[in-house]
Amino acid sequence: MTPPQHIAIVGGGTAGWMTACLLRQRWRERGIEITLIESAEIGTVGVGEGSTPYLRRFFATLGIAERDWMPACDATYKCGIRFPGWSSVEGYESYVHPFFNEADRELGNQFFTNACLRRRGQAADANPQDFFLAAELARQRRAPLYKAEGPGTDYAYHFDAGKLGVFLRGHAVGLGVRHVVDTIARVEQHEGGDIAAVHLKGGTRIAADLFVDCSGFKGLLINETLGEPFLPYRDNLFNDRAIAIPTPLVDGEDIPSETVSTALRHGWAWQIPLTTRYGNGYVYSSDFISDDDAERELREHLGAAAEGASARRLRMRVGRVDRHWSRNCVAVGLAQGFIEPLEATALMLIQLSVEGLIAALEADDFGRGRQADYNRRVNGMFEGVRDYVVAHYRLNTRRDTDYWRANRAHRHISDRLASLLDVWDRGGDFEAELESHGSALMYLRPSWYALFAGMGRFPAELRAAPQAVTAAQAKARLGPMATTFSSHRSQLLGQ
Ligand SMILES: Cc1cc2nc3c(=O)[nH]c(=O)nc-3n(C[C@H](O)[C@H](O)[C@H](O)COP(=O)(O)OP(=O)(O)OC[C@H]3O[C@@H](n4cnc5c(N)ncnc54)[C@H](O)[C@@H]3O)c2cc1C
Repeated sequence: MTPPQHIAIVGGGTAGWMTACLLRQRWRERGIEITLIESAEIGTVGVGEGSTPYLRRFFATLGIAERDWMPACDATYKCGIRFPGWSSVEGYESYVHPFFNEADRELGNQFFTNACLRRRGQAADANPQDFFLAAELARQRRAPLYKAEGPGTDYAYHFDAGKLGVFLRGHAVGLGVRHVVDTIARVEQHEGGDIAAVHLKGGTRIAADLFVDCSGFKGLLINETLGEPFLPYRDNLFNDRAIAIPTPLVDGEDIPSETVSTALRHGWAWQIPLTTRYGNGYVYSSDFISDDDAERELREHLGAAAEGASARRLRMRVGRVDRHWSRNCVAVGLAQGFIEPLEATALMLIQLSVEGLIAALEADDFGRGRQADYNRRVNGMFEGVRDYVVAHYRLNTRRDTDYWRANRAHRHISDRLASLLDVWDRGGDFEAELESHGSALMYLRPSWYALFAGMGRFPAELRAAPQAVTAAQAKARLGPMATTFSSHRSQLLGQ
């Protein structure tokens, strides 16, 4: 097949601009025209300020250096996510999901060993926050960049979502993407059902061969026009609302280099440090708490810092479409689905979806031969991330509200997650179990260990253990290692 002459992207949120940048970068030489249409009336979701390490590859693909985009987006480095309050097990009241570094090889392996000892009822320290360099860097508020030559470190970013959108828009337009600001009033379909064109309120008709639906939660093309069903994850991910409140950084304090996701009474609160402010928010379930009570609880949690700050209330459509690519339309971003932001995976799923689309189209000479395979793969990614996020709720040991009890008790978990839990609890071969699921898990071995051990999912009765490295011994090695990294503030702001 000949490549499409014209691709129309509907939506100018992060998904639309990330898609525009990646497609244009890849296919500029083929002369494929790309138009992005966004509505000034409707606006973007305006949140989404944490990433996974995949975003490093996104910028590398575009050839954009950190010094060029990070200051423009008030961006900071992210060593991982800390989870206070999810577990009530002594010694595990807070734990970390770190990004992993080559320097972790030795102590990281010790952590796996300790976790396995503990799983089998032997006393050993197994809170990941004590064994990984990234956790220590975050504790000391350092940037995850070696001052001198050193082994590789992995990390992600925090950024201002609005500013990232503006930055990506500038880049995409610079690459030759046509930008149209108007609201789509009507979608025209060919007789066979493919999308032919979108009609704008201003009267313009924009025709294209391929449409990318980045219109946000409403799914203007994929759901409203093509009628693709949306499959909610409500059975096992209860949260459907969020409230966001920004707060100032504390003067003179170094800038944290981790996201903190604190369990509250009916959900959890994020705190994301930028160079100019904190982004905060409460993700909760409307089945368990009203919006007003949730705002009150969040303000209490934030304390004086939130006084006078205005709150934004958001509704979340959690789940995914059945087919992300249907006819001549591919849904990307919130239009294709959303897993609540506990592990900050949405931008990663956008990137992987677009990279997968490029690969599928190129492999089939721009035909639709790979459509079913593409949909299977993207669904697999969503299900893999969902299982990992669901596991956080499943493993919680809070006793204060029905919300947490219901999250622990419901029966709607996948066979895969049930099997992982079963093997872990029985003291079985967890390594073999992880391996048997392969890449379908989306998260690698260290992440699963960090989560299961970090929640303190161990037998209560402990026997004396063989020699295991203690948390204190691990910290004594990590502490000095971390001091060879720059302070986060000086790395970002040179002060
Ligand atoms: C509470 C919360 C926290 C989140 N935290 C994270 C996080 O930490 N990390 C992360 O990776 N992700 C996070 N996300 C997800 C992230 O915000 C989104 O995945 C990302 O912003 C992409 O959104 P989008 O571009 O798909 O949709 P939107 O930002 O909603 O953009 C939709 C676009 O479609 C346009 N549009 C809609 N209808 C029309 C029309 N009729 N005509 C023309 N244009 C139209 C709008 O103008 C807009 O430009 C979070 C989401 C929520 C709700």
